[in-house]
Amino acid sequence: GPQARNFGAAAAFGTAGAATWGLSAQRERATRCEADPAVVGAAVLGTAVGALGGFFYGKSKADAVQEKYATYWPRKIMMVFGAPGAGKGTQGPKIVDMLDIPQLSTGDMLREAVAAGTEIGKKAKDVMASGALVSDDIVIGIIADRIKADDCKNGFILDGFPRTVAQSKALDAMLATTGEAVSLVMAFDVDPAVLEERVCGRWIDKASGRSYHVKFAAPKSMKVGHDGKPIPDTMKDDITGDKLFQRPDDTAEALKKRLDGYKNQTVPILDHYAPRGIVKNIDGGAPIAA
Ligand code: ADP
Repeated sequence: GPQARNFGAAAAFGTAGAATWGLSAQRERATRCEADPAVVGAAVLGTAVGALGGFFYGKSKADAVQEKYATYWPRKIMMVFGAPGAGKGTQGPKIVDMLDIPQLSTGDMLREAVAAGTEIGKKAKDVMASGALVSDDIVIGIIADRIKADDCKNGFILDGFPRTVAQSKALDAMLATTGEAVSLVMAFDVDPAVLEERVCGRWIDKASGRSYHVKFAAPKSMKVGHDGKPIPDTMKDDITGDKLFQRPDDTAEALKKRLDGYKNQTVPILDHYAPRGIVKNIDGGAPIAA
């Protein structure tokens, strides 16, 4: 009938056709035919606007929830804990990927300061190379600034800090000012006998932090000399081809000092946090370069 043809024509004209219709005609047709394209169009548009409205409403609601959490719930504050070479730097990035919170390594920050030649870097350079600890004041100051940054708003993972009971107490006091506390200490257990081999065979890509090992995870480019040792110029990052480097404190001599420091000054931190039930032991013995 005429209605069907009408419908077909309007559909063919699409919205342009519908838009040229007079208002009265539109109203007239609307009363006669529920399938009128203008009505259908308006209904579809109405649904779309409604959905969009719902979308924006939903989004602002999600924002509000996020804001509520940021304001009232404490941040997730985690700590990776273990001897040099225990696997903190290897496991940490996996947690970073999973939880999307940054890993803050005081060792990395200090190495950056040394490379940049800042005041802190000048003070830390020789102390670090020898395997001894940098003063509490310096590292506490670095961390106090760093955890205020925006990327820490949902939490962060501390790596290499605290390293003395004095540092843990300073950290607790710092967090207490905002009603926060350490939520989890992940303690990597590893057989001390494997540490020297792991640490002394370690080569690192400075830019990415990727670490290799002459025996357990050699770079593809590695060539070994007549003495059985890798030729330094052939040690290159698999991905970028940049030359790898060895940390000045990854020597047997400096490691001995680092392990002593770990045993005497760092392990007592576990006794500090254990009574709160937040220390979790993790097997760091998997045969991969730390
Ligand atoms: P490791 O492989 O020994 O765990 P890091 O990269 O964490 O090494 O640290 C390297 C060096 O940086 C340490 O031996 C020490 O000299 C210095 N350092 C890092 N973090 C701290 C800290 N929290 N307190 C004192 N010194 C630190």
